[in-house]
Amino acid sequence: MAKGNKDIKCSFCGSGKQDTLMLIAGLDAHICDKCVAQANQILAEELTVRKAKSPQSSVTLLKPMEIKNHLDQYVIGQDQAKKVLAVAVYNHYKRLNQKIEKDEVEIEKSNIIMVGETGTGKTLLAKTIAKVLNVPFCICDATVLTEAGYVGEDVESILTRLLQAADYDVAAAERGIVYIDEVDKIARKSDNPSITRDVSGEGVQQALLKILEGTMVNVPPQGGRKHPDQKMIAVNTNNILFIAGGAFDGIEKKIANRLRTQTVGYKVDKDEFNIDLKNLYKYITPQDLKSFGLIPELIGRLPVITHLNPLDRETLLSILVEPKNSLIKQYKKLFEYENVKLDFDAEVMEFIVDKAMEFKLGARGLRSICEAIMIDAMYETPSGKHSKELFITLDYATDKFEKSDLKKLKVA
Ligand code: ADP
Repeated sequence: MAKGNKDIKCSFCGSGKQDTLMLIAGLDAHICDKCVAQANQILAEELTVRKAKSPQSSVTLLKPMEIKNHLDQYVIGQDQAKKVLAVAVYNHYKRLNQKIEKDEVEIEKSNIIMVGETGTGKTLLAKTIAKVLNVPFCICDATVLTEAGYVGEDVESILTRLLQAADYDVAAAERGIVYIDEVDKIARKSDNPSITRDVSGEGVQQALLKILEGTMVNVPPQGGRKHPDQKMIAVNTNNILFIAGGAFDGIEKKIANRLRTQTVGYKVDKDEFNIDLKNLYKYITPQDLKSFGLIPELIGRLPVITHLNPLDRETLLSILVEPKNSLIKQYKKLFEYENVKLDFDAEVMEFIVDKAMEFKLGARGLRSICEAIMIDAMYETPSGKHSKELFITLDYATDKFEKSDLKKLKVA
């Protein structure tokens, strides 16, 4: 039998209709807006707890080959680095799923260090891996870090970034990936222990040890030291994967020296030890990192070493057109929004790559060169200057490039 409006009450808290904003009717019951909100909160809390208890739930455990296939869509070449990364990441997340029982073999953390010239795709690889796995990811620059108490950022700020990337979901952040860029810049300044403290070099390396190894770290949620009264958040770094990357300028010399001293005095089969002098990075070992100025303890905590190859002309050309979000595809998409079909003469691509090689800007340079060529078209098209189709010819590209400021970059 239908009740009168006055008799209707929330079946959960008993509030009458007049005391609530809204009463939602079910089959035999009613619920008020306040109880709905409360139930929602209980549900959210419960879900967070469950998520925290099952780390594997949000990490899609792809097989190494699947990870590499994903990477192939975005990163050109660098097969060795992709393989090493895919295996390390796979093992890392397998380790998270391991339930340690007595006497069982405990899998150790496999933090990674990538060595390769600037602009060869180190950051891109780390970023793409995090995207594939759907885990929080942050990039931090080792050059801004200093030992605690000195001007600069404390190493804990790395975790602040990760927390921010995870929307302050601590459980998610604890399974995230951190990319530490320019790790070569915190190399020990000299081999001799100096009188002055090396607060941005060895000091930072020492401070990083603790975080990399896996420990509870108190992290200031806002970062920095400007908010001394903020409440710290405890983050366990045990399951965070750290990937360090750096150009290690000049390390080739150290590698070459080592290779030379190794070969002297032995009868070396020429074919067996055919050193690729153009790419000495591929012979990198922990020993070279040590002679560059990383402390052995830090190297030990970055047990997986891999290298990135320098980009040659063909690779640059592929980078320009092939990746899923290649520059050329991006420009085409931009013009598609204006209902203009954009196309490039094949010679234009060659021109862009030639200029990038000439300016020694690596893959980073491709973007600025494309921008110099396309800026006028992108300025004019939205106002209807190019209707329907735009074909970029070599003459057009050369003309726009010659008139741009970029031309002044020309290296001697
Ligand atoms: P770094 O090695 O200095 O970290 P990045 O990963 O930041 O270099 O590369 C800079 C840009 O160059 C990337 O955003 C990407 O567009 C491009 N790039 C570099 N290497 C590659 C590659 N192997 N495949 C595809 N794009 C690349």
